[in-house]
Amino acid sequence: MYDIVIIGAGIAGMTAAIYARRAGKSVLVLETGVCGGQIVSALEVWNYPGFAKISGAKLTGEISHQMNNLGAELKYEEVLAVAKSDGGGFEVKTDEGEYACGAIIIATGTEPRKLSEKQAKDAGERPISHCATCDGALYKGKPVVVVGSGNTAKHEIKYLEGIAAKVYHIHHDEPIPKDAVAVFVAIGRVPATTVFKDLVDLDVDGYVVAGENCRTSCPGVFVAGDCRTKDVRQLVTAVADGAVAAGAALRYLG
Ligand SMILES: Cc1cc2nc3c(=O)[nH]c(=O)nc-3n(C[C@H](O)[C@H](O)[C@H](O)COP(=O)(O)OP(=O)(O)OC[C@H]3O[C@@H](n4cnc5c(N)ncnc54)[C@H](O)[C@@H]3O)c2cc1C
Repeated sequence: MYDIVIIGAGIAGMTAAIYARRAGKSVLVLETGVCGGQIVSALEVWNYPGFAKISGAKLTGEISHQMNNLGAELKYEEVLAVAKSDGGGFEVKTDEGEYACGAIIIATGTEPRKLSEKQAKDAGERPISHCATCDGALYKGKPVVVVGSGNTAKHEIKYLEGIAAKVYHIHHDEPIPKDAVAVFVAIGRVPATTVFKDLVDLDVDGYVVAGENCRTSCPGVFVAGDCRTKDVRQLVTAVADGAVAAGAALRYLG
């Protein structure tokens, strides 16, 4: 039995873990992907106070080190469901086990929006990437395609133009060129909250409904970071949410 289970080891979840551990609570952090979350792949962050410029990997590496040193337990497991338990508290089910806890902090962030069914079919067996800086080098001298029309797509195209033989640019739902060997998808991000849809209120876009106090519609369940309804989705607002959500969970546990 843990005092608090935090779902997601992005910058919001890790900050919540630091605050909860410093208050002496037992903390389990569950992460399905990379510790550090979406910012890990960013080569340069220019707006995190205290660092004129830092890579996402370095920044989150420091924070995870701090979290580990404080004694938060981190397990690489995907959360599949969360349910209220009979005696109060919650049961968290993962792909590897089940954990009981007194309070939950949802910090699952956002994930890249997937291709439409039609384009996914068109892509067939060709590799799909959501990160040109991570995977672009694999396609040196080969033709690739970027799907998307926003700033991220423009950034991906510029990056790939220095590597690939040709970079096609298509919009959502246009056919994927036959000779492109890989598909880079840059069509926005969506909240990773489907597993919580029966536990807490979500807005029409799937974000967990909560104000600045990070309280959800379910007592004992708090939310931090990009998966919450908010105006500004950035590192500093995710960090702030982590502290607020942990404080709210501590008060709830008494
Ligand atoms: C390319 C890029 C560049 C950016 N640059 C900047 C910048 O320069 N400055 C800035 O302030 N912000 C920047 N941002 C935004 C910033 O990265 C986010 O606001 C911030 O990282 C959000 O943190 P988070 O902890 O809320 O979510 P995330 O970082 O998304 O972390 C959520 C974590 O939860 C995990 N998770 C999801 N579902 C489950 C589940 N069911 N079970 C277990 N774990 C789960 C995910 O694997 C992930 O690791 C950038 C974002 C991107 C993508």
